[in-house]
Amino acid sequence: MINFQYSRASDLADAVRLIAAEPTAKFIAGGTNLIDLMKEDVERPARLIDISRLPLKTVEETKDGGISIGALVPNSDLAYHPLVERRYPLLASAILAGASAQLRNMASTGGNLLQRTRCHYFYDTATPCNKRKPGSGCSAIAGLNRQHAILGTSDACIAVHPSDMCVALAALDATVHVHGRNGERSIAFADFHRLPGTTPERDTNLAPDEIVTTVKLPAKGFGENYSYLKVRDRLSYAFALVSVAAALELDGGTIAHARLALGGVAHKPWRDTGAEAALRGAAPSRAVFAQAADLVLRDAKAYGHNAFKIDLARRTMIRALMQAAQATPQIQSIKKVR
Ligand SMILES: Cc1cc2nc3c(=O)[nH]c(=O)nc-3n(C[C@H](O)[C@H](O)[C@H](O)COP(=O)(O)OP(=O)(O)OC[C@H]3O[C@@H](n4cnc5c(N)ncnc54)[C@H](O)[C@@H]3O)c2cc1C
Ligand code: SF4
Repeated sequence: MINFQYSRASDLADAVRLIAAEPTAKFIAGGTNLIDLMKEDVERPARLIDISRLPLKTVEETKDGGISIGALVPNSDLAYHPLVERRYPLLASAILAGASAQLRNMASTGGNLLQRTRCHYFYDTATPCNKRKPGSGCSAIAGLNRQHAILGTSDACIAVHPSDMCVALAALDATVHVHGRNGERSIAFADFHRLPGTTPERDTNLAPDEIVTTVKLPAKGFGENYSYLKVRDRLSYAFALVSVAAALELDGGTIAHARLALGGVAHKPWRDTGAEAALRGAAPSRAVFAQAADLVLRDAKAYGHNAFKIDLARRTMIRALMQAAQATPQIQSIKKVR
């Protein structure tokens, strides 16, 4: 592990000042991703800026009936927060499908958004990887790519974003609020993470001098008809092969509003507003959901080992939407562990 300097940010302005002063510095929150990457020599920050004591640890109701989530709210606290459990169970369910109880206790909301891909070549510094070393090539495209993307890929990178929480945040139309040298701004969740294109080294549109302060959710929480369905190699402590956040608002026998987002299939949480629009006004049925799934997957592309993901994604979407329609969500039977 490399030598690095350590500073503790005293307030938000101090955090921004410290990160702006040193391009190779990194914020550290829970440390559950960054420290692993440093141990593997993938990340080499010259300075760690500890933000863990900043006052960003509350979940509050907003004037418009939504909620504001501080960037340092631990994943467990968020999943078990009464407002989230009651009004945004899709989010609680997605968080509890991720990692382990111990990790969720440490992992922060902001860190979850900024966690890096789990592509094994990204972690293996002996192999070419455009995300780790731009211009070196992508070992996954013609390599072992069972876990890789089928949507939104490029010739430079086919990695997936590993978060569960972010898939629910995409479906729930979250906004990310950030603070930088030029003040505050908000970023629609769909615009926060990036597709790889020719610059896979950039995961997000966060500027180098910006810190995530809060994530806000609008009032509409889809508390009745939702499901987060995660398919993985083992039942817990594994990243998604494919995951689906499905949410419906039913009006009599028809769908008034639909949300559909996928994890494990792209460089960013993959929300398809075209498929959502196609569901609007239809009566929920397996056939209607299959059409929506086909729409989502119209441009899907396999790379060999991950070909199974296309059919898996289709079936997972149909099942999650059926669960949402029938109000029988996939329950994460994980007890609170402290
Ligand atoms: C074994 C294992 C299994 C896991 N399984 C899953 C899983 O199934 N599903 C899942 O979703 N996740 C999973 N995770 C990932 C875990 O959720 C993330 O590691 C965690 O959310 C990162 O949060 P953190 O606070 O620890 O981030 P850190 O490690 O502290 O930081 C991660 C990155 O975010 C940046 N950062 C942190 N906070 C901010 C901020 N406020 N503003 C700007 N930048 C910031 C840091 O600079 C760093 O680059 C797993 C992790 C491990 C180790
Ligand atoms: S898929 Fe992306 S992260 Fe993985 S080896 Fe290729 S460039 Fe690197």
